[in-house]
Amino acid sequence: VGTQELLLSRIRDVADYPKPGVMFKDITPLLADPEAFAALTGMLAALCERHEATKIVGLEARGFILGAPVAVRAGLGFIPVRKAGKLPGATLSQAYELEYGQAEIEVHAEDLRAGDRVMVIDDVLATGGTAGASLELIRRAGADVAGVAVLMELGFLGGRARLEPALRGAPLEAL
Ligand code: IMP
Repeated sequence: VGTQELLLSRIRDVADYPKPGVMFKDITPLLADPEAFAALTGMLAALCERHEATKIVGLEARGFILGAPVAVRAGLGFIPVRKAGKLPGATLSQAYELEYGQAEIEVHAEDLRAGDRVMVIDDVLATGGTAGASLELIRRAGADVAGVAVLMELGFLGGRARLEPALRGAPLEAL
């Protein structure tokens, strides 16, 4: 089987999680399979090289699990973007709209600066709200966006279109 088939076969659909009507894409079977996990991190590291990233931002929480091994493989530093209130140092924060209500994410201000080219990594692009807010944070810190790389894009939620203005021509790569 090809790599894409391998990865797809290790993603579990969980119905009605976290609430009724939602089909949750669960990547824990993929993480538990060393061949699939290595294939995924290798593909993401290759994207970082292709797009000449110099730093990796991982989005809490599954973006940490994927982004950290990619950073090591690509030889780049890893920077966590966290939900508000979790980072101890001076932060930049960015609020964004959820389907119901608001959310806020933060980054340590000193971790990003002018001259950086940042690749954002996460497992799933759903509405694109989280990734879009992370791009705002990166640009407010003075850094450039190399792209956004995710394992999966849930096309029916329109995340790509929502993200497009914030990408400003940078690539959205969905494996
Ligand atoms: P968005 O902001 O609507 O694009 O939601 C993306 C965030 O929610 C990401 O950090 C994902 O990890 C998480 N997420 C949304 N839907 C799923 C899913 O089906 N499986 C795993 N994570 C999801």
